[in-house]
Amino acid sequence: MIHSNPVRPDAELPIVMSYGMGLDSASILTRWLTEPASRNFPLSRLTVLTAMTGDEPDVTRRLNEDHLLPLLRRTGTRFVQVGRTSQQGGHTVLDDSRDPKKLIMRGPWRLSDELRASGTVPQIAAKRRLCSWRAKGEVLDGWLADEFSGQPFRHVLGFAAEEVRRAERDEGFTATGRLPEYPLIDDWGWDRHRCDQYLLDQFGERWSRSACGYCPFSAGRRGRADLIERWRAEPAVGAQALALEFTALALNPRSKLYGTVSAQDLARTHGLTEVLAEFEQHLRRQRWSVYEVRRIIHPRRNDPTAKGAAWRSVRTEFTGHHDDARFILNTLAHGRAATDEHGVTRAEIIPRTGGYPAIEMALALAPAGVQPKERPAFGSWWDRLHHQIAPNHLGTVTLAA
Ligand code: SF4
Repeated sequence: MIHSNPVRPDAELPIVMSYGMGLDSASILTRWLTEPASRNFPLSRLTVLTAMTGDEPDVTRRLNEDHLLPLLRRTGTRFVQVGRTSQQGGHTVLDDSRDPKKLIMRGPWRLSDELRASGTVPQIAAKRRLCSWRAKGEVLDGWLADEFSGQPFRHVLGFAAEEVRRAERDEGFTATGRLPEYPLIDDWGWDRHRCDQYLLDQFGERWSRSACGYCPFSAGRRGRADLIERWRAEPAVGAQALALEFTALALNPRSKLYGTVSAQDLARTHGLTEVLAEFEQHLRRQRWSVYEVRRIIHPRRNDPTAKGAAWRSVRTEFTGHHDDARFILNTLAHGRAATDEHGVTRAEIIPRTGGYPAIEMALALAPAGVQPKERPAFGSWWDRLHHQIAPNHLGTVTLAA
């Protein structure tokens, strides 16, 4: 049950609004900044807090700089922009001002750099969006911990009226001192449609969804149309999605960005020729690597017939010009390399074995830059399973082999 909050007893506390820059939080902020009666606190006690992923399309910057930042400046409201410091963690304050001039779209770390280095697309792990947790959750928590050191503060989130379950989940994550509030649900009863209309009335143009330009989680039936329009307006954003997906598909053909539909399919189906051209140009600029990719798929802990955790080992066998890398791949795979409908060249060395645990191994050609990765126990597990399950196949493929 989400609590109702007309005038809270803790109204004297500092207030932080997690501003995701999307429809819902932009509606709350706009109303608070323009209608004093819509809030039960003075703006001097409000901090607007945004975590930058580094991959928002330019339209997010433009809308905020045209409409929200002038309101923040006029009212002297504090706006803090933060970003992740590095792959290892940490948060960097990009701007902290009551007179914010611009949105700092990129800090020292970008989510797409991390995805490119791991050769993956955004994923869900343990029912959590890993990307969002790394790019936003950990960063915001770090800043809040520094700012309040466990002291109580009101934490406002922009979940729309139809997102009660999200709010209930969020309420369950309450950390020391954090008192969550959901005004769109508790007090105003505003759904996304209402927020959309409100911002259109206020600013005379439609507010765009806020998400990384390749986000698979905001590309449901409604979001898909927005995504296509965003890529049409900003072809570089679409090309980035295709590039991330290309490397992920090379390392794992099951990595289409949008489930059963690939980013390439979307671009072709919707005639996004500029996106496709930028993507091709991007591929032409790359150095290429041959990667050896091995995978162990364990059985689920309580059900040996079901798929459990998957471990992946990635090693770089060669890096150089595309044609040289392709030649090396073909040589190592004894001419068995094939190119699929996404333009990905791979050779299955050990096709996935049946039952669980299962193993598989492939060689793949993809842009250079994927970092070698293998958990410490991988080698001994691989040797044992390879010996048991697929003794007639090569256990590893290296240039020296
Ligand atoms: S917008 Fe999408 S891809 Fe970006 S961090 Fe959030 S969930 Fe992940």
